[in-house]
Amino acid sequence: MTEKFDSVVVGAGPAGIAAAYTMAKAGLSVLVLEKGEKPGAKNMFGGVIFRHHTEKLAPEFWKTAPVERHVVEYQYWFLSEQSHLLVSHRNQRFNNQFNAFTVHRAKFDPWFAKLAEDAGAMIINRTTVDDVMKEDGKIVGVRSERGDVKADVVIAADGVNSMLAKQAGLREETPEDVAVLAVKEVIALPKQRIEERFNLGSDEGIAALLVGFAPGMHAGFMYTNRDTISIGIGVNIRDLDKSKRRPNEIFEQFKHHPSIAPLIKDGELKEYSAHLIPEGGYDYVSNVCTDGMLVAGDAAMLVNAINWEGTNLAMTSGVLAAETVIAAKKRNDFSSNSLFAYRQQLEDSFVLKDLKKYRNVPKFFSANPHFFTQYPEAINELAYMWHVVDDELKADRIRRMKADLFKRRSRLGLVRDAYHLWRMFS
Ligand SMILES: Cc1cc2nc3c(=O)[nH]c(=O)nc-3n(C[C@H](O)[C@H](O)[C@H](O)COP(=O)(O)OP(=O)(O)OC[C@H]3O[C@@H](n4cnc5c(N)ncnc54)[C@H](O)[C@@H]3O)c2cc1C
Repeated sequence: MTEKFDSVVVGAGPAGIAAAYTMAKAGLSVLVLEKGEKPGAKNMFGGVIFRHHTEKLAPEFWKTAPVERHVVEYQYWFLSEQSHLLVSHRNQRFNNQFNAFTVHRAKFDPWFAKLAEDAGAMIINRTTVDDVMKEDGKIVGVRSERGDVKADVVIAADGVNSMLAKQAGLREETPEDVAVLAVKEVIALPKQRIEERFNLGSDEGIAALLVGFAPGMHAGFMYTNRDTISIGIGVNIRDLDKSKRRPNEIFEQFKHHPSIAPLIKDGELKEYSAHLIPEGGYDYVSNVCTDGMLVAGDAAMLVNAINWEGTNLAMTSGVLAAETVIAAKKRNDFSSNSLFAYRQQLEDSFVLKDLKKYRNVPKFFSANPHFFTQYPEAINELAYMWHVVDDELKADRIRRMKADLFKRRSRLGLVRDAYHLWRMFS
């Protein structure tokens, strides 16, 4: 591998492949280096990919891509030890105008990578990039176990722990207070049983977010695939250190919740995996360019944890990085000044606009964990009190419900929380 490329992309996830595909289509010579034995082999997520942003790269992709189910219902579960309160939104419009698809990354990523390959990008798997190559302080390529490769621009799309961005001095380790460790199981069940348990038609799916109950759990998630269920939890690394609990202990507790256990009963464990999510938002986004290098996707910490979006930010940042390289190639200028247009394009796109809108949310929830503990408990207790039928007068019942709520959270605390939520989301 002594050849020089217009661009070397490190990582064949959504960010890297979107970048490689865009540059290859424009006629640039592109090499993608991926450490897994194939794209997706080492990747895990919830999860869903979104129609809108994926379709920009691959029109009507669901007709050929290995998607599992299209999501017709979004569920929000508030758990307490013995109960749950479920808010859900199911809409027939999601059957006519697809919004999101559950996928297995091990199947979807190779399909996505083939698009880039067919457009002319070269993808070499089983190749870990160890370092960036520098000349006169500028990045001019990468060093891998298979040798050095030169390029006008390196795109670091090597995921949440991006060694490349750290080596280029563009970012630090993900700080503990905004790093969420996710553990996930894929549980096999017959297709029909999944459809009965979740009240789904063929090809229809649900995406669920769950909070409360398991101390230390940041949030849980559940997605229905064709004949498997993806289920997992996220734990904040700082809170995990403090709680002295192990993630799999919290996960087991979560799976045994009386409302969750029946949904996965008799299922066969197919896969167990763990992965970090950088949930810091706008204030933690890394520097994204330097002489000869751009950073895209999770490597730059581009994750919208509030809306559970990551792949679409990864794909969009990959495309914007690629367009920046294409423009730089025309100028034959790969300096940081020339590549800085990328940061500006991210700022002008939904990627950084959305993260900026929510810039205070991650810190707020991190400093106020009672949203994930006290409130789910309180909501469940109030729902229980409301539904019990006995001789108690309703006026007394309502008084008791108010007293219970204020015992858990003072009036001032409730007003403060409501005010902060209003400020952050309006
Ligand atoms: C539990 C969980 C649930 C999620 N759910 C969703 C969801 O439902 N929807 C959504 O949109 N997003 C979701 N996300 C976020 C989403 O997965 C990421 O934002 C997205 O995968 C980022 O894409 P990427 O290409 O930047 O990085 P990645 O997908 O992480 O890809 C990075 C690639 O780089 C390779 N690599 C790393 N280091 C090297 C190296 N040194 N040399 C060569 N190759 C290397 C890796 O093997 C990998 O293939 C979830 C994440 C997690 C952890």
